[in-house]
Amino acid sequence: MKLYDRDAAQKLRHLLGRFTRAPVAHLPTPLQDCPRLGEALGGPRILVKRDDMTGLAMGGNKARQFTYSLGPALDRGCDCLLHGSDSQSNQSAQTAAAAARLGMKSIVVIPRDHRSYPVSGNLLLNHLMADQIKYVFPLTVKDELKKQMKELETKGSKPYDTSSDGAILRAVAYVDATLELCEQLAQRGIAPKAIYTSSMTYTIVGLVVGLRAVSACFKAVGLNYWVGDDREMQERLAPVANECASVIGLKQSFTPEDFDVTCEYAKPDFGEPSRTSLETMRLVARTEGIVLDPVYTAKAMDGLAIHIREGRFQPDDTIVFLHTGGTPAIFAYGDELFG
Ligand SMILES: *Cc1c(COP(=O)(O)O)cnc(C)c1O
Repeated sequence: MKLYDRDAAQKLRHLLGRFTRAPVAHLPTPLQDCPRLGEALGGPRILVKRDDMTGLAMGGNKARQFTYSLGPALDRGCDCLLHGSDSQSNQSAQTAAAAARLGMKSIVVIPRDHRSYPVSGNLLLNHLMADQIKYVFPLTVKDELKKQMKELETKGSKPYDTSSDGAILRAVAYVDATLELCEQLAQRGIAPKAIYTSSMTYTIVGLVVGLRAVSACFKAVGLNYWVGDDREMQERLAPVANECASVIGLKQSFTPEDFDVTCEYAKPDFGEPSRTSLETMRLVARTEGIVLDPVYTAKAMDGLAIHIREGRFQPDDTIVFLHTGGTPAIFAYGDELFG
């Protein structure tokens, strides 16, 4: 079976060439064979697409997403990047790093939550790189961000919020990643069954739109890190995919059924590791020397391990696992991992 349509890939590459890109990631990332992990799981061949190695201050999928989503910030001459979510947010640390890389200022809003003390993990990276850190009560992060944006604008500055500004371009970046992956697979003559990843929105949307655009022979499976309803997730993603396709200039439309996604492995809660995900994290570390993170990638890999044990794949199948990063957060999880 043909891996993908090369003419369609060429057209897609042309369409993507029109976007301004911010040089914040080291690409392409490696595609690593994991024979000991495959053997330990008693199933298919596993390849890990190392987007934890995108290079920007310890890497992750945000660096790749920013290559596109910060394009408009460069076009508009923005001078400050802002972000705020939780205290161990990968995106906050990557925002501060990208700003440094692009010669911009950065402001990061941090809620005082149960992982904001002691200073560790992504919060430590923020202390290292951000121009300003604003500590606030949890639940007031969004208000503080708005206030900071307004203040900067009144001063004549041009701020850019890396969550809301250019958001759909984060999916476009993963359409581009699909081309990168297909080329790597073609070079090695591998046709996988599926690509698994931790994602709630942009990564999985980009993969689904990209794989459809090049008529790839394999599907994408998205494992959410947020506990919720699978059907609601599918319904939320279809319009995002339609927007992504239309921004690129692809005539495609998506329905909820186009998304093979689940929230099943997000339990017990966002940021709280399950027992089996910690076991999987140790297994991957000990068999391949690859460090997963407890919030996103360990849960996604655990979902894949469970699917393998359920017999969903044959021993001669190949599965790609997209490692989306998150590595710095492990240092804020010492007690859960080894306590
Ligand atoms: C942000 C993040 C994700 C999810 O990204 P989406 O935009 O929802 O696809 C997955 N893994 C890690 C490590 C992240 O930081």
